[in-house]
Amino acid sequence: MKLGKYSFGIGDRFGHQGPAQLKAIEEVMNQGLTITPVWNKSHREHEIIKTTPGSVRTEADDAVNKLGWDDAYFVDADHITMDTIEDFLVSSNYFTIDVADFIGNGIQESDEKTFLEKNGSLIGDMEIPGISEKFEINESLLKKIAHNYINAIKEARRIYQHIKKEKGDDVVIEISMDEVEKPQTPVELFFILKTLSEYDVQINTIAPKFTGRFNKGVDYVGDLDKFSQEFEQDILVIKHVISDYHLPEDLKLSVHSGSDKFSIYDSIHNIIKQHDSGLHVKTSGTTWLEELIGLASADNDGLQMVQSIYKTAWSRFKELTDPYAPVIDVDYEGLPTPDTFNSWESKKVVAKLTHNPDDPEFDSQLRQFLHCSYKIAAEKKSEYYNLLKKYEKVIGSNVTNNLYKRHLKPLFLE
Ligand SMILES: [Zn+2]
Repeated sequence: MKLGKYSFGIGDRFGHQGPAQLKAIEEVMNQGLTITPVWNKSHREHEIIKTTPGSVRTEADDAVNKLGWDDAYFVDADHITMDTIEDFLVSSNYFTIDVADFIGNGIQESDEKTFLEKNGSLIGDMEIPGISEKFEINESLLKKIAHNYINAIKEARRIYQHIKKEKGDDVVIEISMDEVEKPQTPVELFFILKTLSEYDVQINTIAPKFTGRFNKGVDYVGDLDKFSQEFEQDILVIKHVISDYHLPEDLKLSVHSGSDKFSIYDSIHNIIKQHDSGLHVKTSGTTWLEELIGLASADNDGLQMVQSIYKTAWSRFKELTDPYAPVIDVDYEGLPTPDTFNSWESKKVVAKLTHNPDDPEFDSQLRQFLHCSYKIAAEKKSEYYNLLKKYEKVIGSNVTNNLYKRHLKPLFLE
C-alpha cells in the first residue's frame, strides 16, 4: 500500500466515527482528488481511554468495508517511542516515531566528528533553489545542530530498524519532532533530513515543530507571514534534498495538531499547489468535540450528558489539562462554572463549542478545555456510547461536514 501525495490523519477517541470520517474523504474523491486516510491514535490516548491499538485497526477496517473504500488506507502508531511501540506492531502499518525527548541531549565525540566530516564542505553561504535568502553555514552552527539532533536521529534509527525487522518494507515511516519548545529552522530541517538518510533511515514524511502555537482544537496563534515563509522554505528544503541528496521522491511534510488551524489553511494550500508538493495533515480531537456538539444539539439526554461531563471535568481541571499543558491556553478562572454551563440552552452550548471564530458566542477556552476532557466520557462507558448510537445521525453528519467543509476542502481543494 502506498501513501498518496496527500494524506489526512483522522483520530477518533471512541472509535464510533470511522465511516463518518471516511465519508468526508470520499467527498474529496468525488471532486477528483485522492487523499489517503490514516487513522491515528497515540499511546497517551489509549492509556487514558483504556483502549488497545487493535481497536483502531478494527475501526478502520470496518469503515473501509462499510463504505466499500478500495484505495489505500493506514493505521498510524502515533507518537511511538521504543517504550511504547510493541503493542502497535501488529495493527499498524504507519509509524510516527517520536524522538522529541532525544533532541538537545548531547552527542558522542565520534558522532560529532563524523557529522563535521560529512558536512564540512557545506561551510559558507548555502543556497537552496527557490529561496532567495542565503544561509550562512559555519562550524559552530554545524556543531550546534549535531548536538541538538544526532542523538534523536540515532534513536529514530533504533526504532526504525526494529519496525523494519518486525514489519518488513510495506510500512510508512514518519518522524515527529513537533512536541518540543523550539521550532526547527529550515536549515536544521535540511541537516536532519540529510543525516537521517546517511544513517539509512528512509522516511516518508516528517513533522517538524513550526513557529507559532498549534493549540488543540482551536485556530493557529502566531505570525501568519512568518509561518508561511517557514512552511514554504521547509517545502523547498524537502525538494532540494530529494533532488540533490537522493532522498525518496515521495518525501513530504506533516502538520500535526492540524485540526482547526483555519487561518493558515489558505497559505498551506497555495504553497503546496504552487510547488506541487505532497502533504500530510494530522487531526484528532476535533471528532470528539463534534460528538459533544451533536449531543448538545440533540437537547434532552444528549445535552444532559454534555452538562454532566462538563461538571465532572471542571472539578478535575488540573488532572485533565496537565498532560496537554504545552498545547493549550486555558485559564481555569476563565471557564464557566457548572451552574452557568447548566443554565445554557442547547443552542447556546452548541454556539459556545462550535469552532466558528466569527461568532461572538464561541468560547475558545471552553473548547480547548473540553478537548482535554474525553477521559470523563470514557469513564461513563456505555452510558456515553449508547448516546453516541442514539444520536448517530446528527453526530455523524457533524463529523463529516466538519472534516470536509472546514478542513479538507480549504486545505486540498480550493
Ligand atoms: Zn504530533
